Amino acid sequence: MITSQSQPDDWLLEVTNMSCGYGNGSVVKEVSFALSHGDIGCLLGPSGCGKSTILRALAGFLPLNGGEIRLQGAAISLPGKTLAPEKRRIGMVFQDYALFPHLTIAENVGFGLRNESRGEKAQRVRELLQVVHLQDLADSYPHELSGGQQQRVALARALAPEPTLILLDEPFSNLDADLRRRLSLDVREILKTLGISAILVTHDQQEAFAMCDQVAVLKDGGIQQWDVPYNLYHEPANRFVAGFVGQGGFIPGTTLGPDTIESRLGVIRGNRAYRWQPGTLVDILIRPDDIVYDAESDLKPEVIEKIFAGTSTLYRFRCSEDTEFEALFRSHLDFHLGERVPVRVEADHLIAFERT
Ligand code: ADP
Ligand code: MG
Repeated sequence: MITSQSQPDDWLLEVTNMSCGYGNGSVVKEVSFALSHGDIGCLLGPSGCGKSTILRALAGFLPLNGGEIRLQGAAISLPGKTLAPEKRRIGMVFQDYALFPHLTIAENVGFGLRNESRGEKAQRVRELLQVVHLQDLADSYPHELSGGQQQRVALARALAPEPTLILLDEPFSNLDADLRRRLSLDVREILKTLGISAILVTHDQQEAFAMCDQVAVLKDGGIQQWDVPYNLYHEPANRFVAGFVGQGGFIPGTTLGPDTIESRLGVIRGNRAYRWQPGTLVDILIRPDDIVYDAESDLKPEVIEKIFAGTSTLYRFRCSEDTEFEALFRSHLDFHLGERVPVRVEADHLIAFERT
C-alpha cells in the first residue's frame, strides 16, 4: 500500500476530489464519493461524461492529477503514486465479456487463480459456477453460450480471486431489454449474497435504479448528485439531474410563500420550504405521474399529443403558450387530440428551480 493512515475508516471506498484524464487535461474533475461495505454504487450519465475514465482510475490503469482514492482505508491512488492494478484486489467486468475463446467455461473462471492447488482451484470454480447458475456448462466453450450466460461467466471470473470491489462497465449493453432487466437483478442478488461491493457504470437509469444502492449522476466529468435512487427522482439537486432522471418537464411559476407556487395549473403546494422571497419567478418540475384525471377539476388543458403504450397512455397537454406538460394515464382513460380534459396536480414533492 502506498500510505496507510491509522484513523478508523468505515468506508470501503473513498474517492476525494479526484481529477484524472488523458495527457495534460483532466476529463474527470474533482469527483468525490464514498461507498459502504457491501453496497452497490452506480455511475450514471450520458455517453462521454467520464464514467469509464473513473473506473479506469479506480482499477489503477489511469494515474490521478489530483485528489485520492482509498480502499479499506489505504490510499491506492494519489498524484504521482498509483498502486498497480493487480495489487488492488479489484475485479472488472466489461461490456464485451472478454472471455478466452479457446478455454472452457471452468478454465475461464479459474484463469486468475494462480496460487491455489489444483484441488482448491477446482473447488472454487465449482462454487462460483453454482453461484452464477452455470454449473452444467463447466466444460462448454464461450461460443456455445448465450450473451447473458457469457456475461455471468465473466462475473464469476472476476469474483474468483475474491476481490474487495467489482467494477462493471456497461455489462448488459449487448443484451436485449428483457434479458438486461433479469440479469441486472440476478447480478445484484449474487453480489448481495456474497457481500461484495460493486460499482456499475451505465447510461440506463432503470438499470441504475433497479440494481444500485447509491447512484452518482455525472455530467462533463463532474458528479451532480450522489444519492439513493428515491432522492434522485424526488429531490434532484439541480436542473440537470431533474431533467436526466425520470421523465418530466418544467412549467413557469411565481412563489407565493416558502412552499407554495402559483402557476397556470393553479396553486401548487409541496412539502419542502424554499428560501425564495414571495414573487420569485421559478420553473416547476412536472412529472407525468404528478398529474391525475379529476372530473371535478376546472383546469381543462388541451390534448396536443398522445402516445399509446398498452397499459398506459402518455398525453401531452397545453394550458397556454408557456405551459405544456405530460401526464401518464391508465389507457382506459381515452381522450382524443384537441379534447379538453379535467386534470389536477397531485405532487407530494414540489421541485422548483429559480428562473435564471
Ligand atoms: P463514458 O464512459 O462516460 O462514455 P469516457 O470516460 O469513456 O466516457 O470518456 C470521457 C471523455 O474522455 C470523452 O470525451 C472521451 O473522448 C475522452 N477519452 C476517453 N478515452 C480516451 C483516451 N484513451 N484518450 C483520450 N481521450 C479519451
Ligand atoms: Mg464508457
